[in-house]
Amino acid sequence: MQTRLRPGEQTAEIPDASDASLYFIGRIHTPWTTRDQCPRQGRSDGPECRIEIFAPWDRALTGIEAYGRLEILYWLDRSRRDLILQNPKSDGERYFGTFALRSPQRPNPIGTSLVTLERVEGSSLIVRGLDCLDGTPLIDVKPDRCEFTPKAPDKPGVT
Ligand code: SAM
Repeated sequence: MQTRLRPGEQTAEIPDASDASLYFIGRIHTPWTTRDQCPRQGRSDGPECRIEIFAPWDRALTGIEAYGRLEILYWLDRSRRDLILQNPKSDGERYFGTFALRSPQRPNPIGTSLVTLERVEGSSLIVRGLDCLDGTPLIDVKPDRCEFTPKAPDKPGVT
């Protein structure tokens, strides 16, 4: 699904992507099937969504229930990746560089959300606070940095 360009938006010629390879470690299930329905940013009072973790990565959930907030990274798979200048309001007036926006259209279409963990159900996380389309591939799950305390030994000389 390639998003249509708005008048005046600029793209770049981009090579085939080859700098890194990712594991899609799961799939995100949300109520939204079109962009129009999808919130621009998730909200803590948004609907419950299910993050399905594929084997063998489901075993990496050990200890996750200790956290009330998680940082979720996902691949906005239905984005175009060649946009340089964007016109978010479609008004032909105000243009912004891709890196000055949180638009899903970006060279590496990674989305991030801080979500509330409602519960763990087997190999799925039930959360609130997402803003992605149903079926969006999952890249990573991390405890919210404010709740997390390092588990590794202290580093000498670093406070
Ligand atoms: N919270 C993330 C962030 O800030 O990195 C994503 C914000 S982005 C503005 C959210 C929008 O991306 C949604 O409203 C929807 O229009 C679009 N979107 C959601 N899932 C997508 C997907 N799988 N592929 C392409 N676009 C998607």
